[in-house]
Amino acid sequence: MRDDICTIPVSEIFEKKDGCPICRMRDTIEERMTDYILGDAMMEPDVRIETNKTGFCEYHYGKMMSRRGRLQLALMLQTHINEINSGIFKKKLFNSDRKKGESAKQISDTCFICTKIEWGLSRMIDTVYRCYESERDFRDMFNGQPMFCLPHYERLLNGVSKKDMRRYGSEFAENLNRITAAYSGALYEDLSKYCAMYDYRSKEGADWGSSRDAVERTVAFLNGRSYDPDK
Ligand SMILES: [Zn+2]
Ligand SMILES: [Zn+2]
Repeated sequence: MRDDICTIPVSEIFEKKDGCPICRMRDTIEERMTDYILGDAMMEPDVRIETNKTGFCEYHYGKMMSRRGRLQLALMLQTHINEINSGIFKKKLFNSDRKKGESAKQISDTCFICTKIEWGLSRMIDTVYRCYESERDFRDMFNGQPMFCLPHYERLLNGVSKKDMRRYGSEFAENLNRITAAYSGALYEDLSKYCAMYDYRSKEGADWGSSRDAVERTVAFLNGRSYDPDK
């Protein structure tokens, strides 16, 4: 499998100012991986060997089920199930219940797409630190972001190494804190307004302002996934 499926130039991601940039990175890799799995990956035996072992998580099975290309998915599932049948359920010596349970857990706990996203994301986040340390334009793009979701705020903040960001490490953390605190503060205001709009004393026809989608935006901030009621 080509590595460039899981990596995108970080400046491309940070040029936009729309939601959390790390979520954008993840979504881009995720889209590419899903297309790849339901397309070219069928022809690549090394990918099939891996997907046969790991399978996918609930979220990514759902994503693939919502796409076209059922035959590709069926072919992949066929060899995955075959591997499960011969690895777990076939009668053989020394295949204790404990061993069967462990093998089943291993499959349930692993997802090919999640693993690849994680691989690509950790590389790209290292590049974010490197670019922040060395490029002024990138610092401006980063500092101008409208938000970071809480999981990615945590990841960026905890991943900073003082060694790799000698000069700009504290400026990086300051901006990350400033942007995330401001966004979280604004969410509180919008949620308060939202709740007040339900109050029987609130005036009919009062303006919702930016509070209308406060619940959706708060959930997206807290878990790093947009809530889409149609999915
Ligand atoms: Zn995020
Ligand atoms: Zn997954």
